[in-house]
Amino acid sequence: MADKGRPVMRRKEKKNNEPTEIKKEVKNGRNNDEADASAAEAVAPNDAGQNGRNGDFQVEPMELPPFEIITGDRIDPLVFQFQFKNVEYSSGRNKTFLCYLVDTGKADEGLQRGYLEDEHTGSHAEEAFFTQCLPHYDPALKYTVTWYMSSSPCCACAAKMAEALKARRNIKLSIFAARLFEWEEAEIQAGLKALHIAGCKIRVMKPLDFSYTWDTFVENEDQPLNLWADCKENYEYYHERLADILQ
Ligand SMILES: [Zn+2]
Repeated sequence: MADKGRPVMRRKEKKNNEPTEIKKEVKNGRNNDEADASAAEAVAPNDAGQNGRNGDFQVEPMELPPFEIITGDRIDPLVFQFQFKNVEYSSGRNKTFLCYLVDTGKADEGLQRGYLEDEHTGSHAEEAFFTQCLPHYDPALKYTVTWYMSSSPCCACAAKMAEALKARRNIKLSIFAARLFEWEEAEIQAGLKALHIAGCKIRVMKPLDFSYTWDTFVENEDQPLNLWADCKENYEYYHERLADILQ
């Protein structure tokens, strides 16, 4: 779970280092600076009031501003290396990164590419993908969608995605996840199974997939990814867990 007392940090930087063969598709739902300002306004009077009222310091969950999804072109390399690390215990990683490729089969459009970033406090990146990246869904097209995610979907997202895929048979979705989110939970396992049955291909990211994601979605300054020591072992661990769940 996200720490609700933590200030909402916004990081947004982009570079125009887009490969020419891939069409640039960066969408910003709203102005992030504006959101920061309104977040600060919403928080400041609240804090002052609680501390100054009668000397009693009340620990109450701070209401975050309306939930935001961050969209972007390429991920900061340090953020990627932290968020996508396939460790077993993902302490501090309270958000999901979703890198996507969309191919609609139209020769003149190329691939739609980008990433979404959320926190586990509101609508998640998976849901945002459908509203922000496929807003003009066309039933006549064939969509081939690939996600590289820092962790696999929660049960609520898995259920929504399974419904979306059942209703839209022309979307073929493949998910590659660095980690399995709360895979011990029966509900999570049921959600992954439902997705699998709905036709979604679910895989754990292999070392090669991390390198591909780095090359394709990270501000990598043309440097290769140095894979961490236990990347392969961790992949094998999660791969076996997923195979058990989906069998
Ligand atoms: Zn979710």
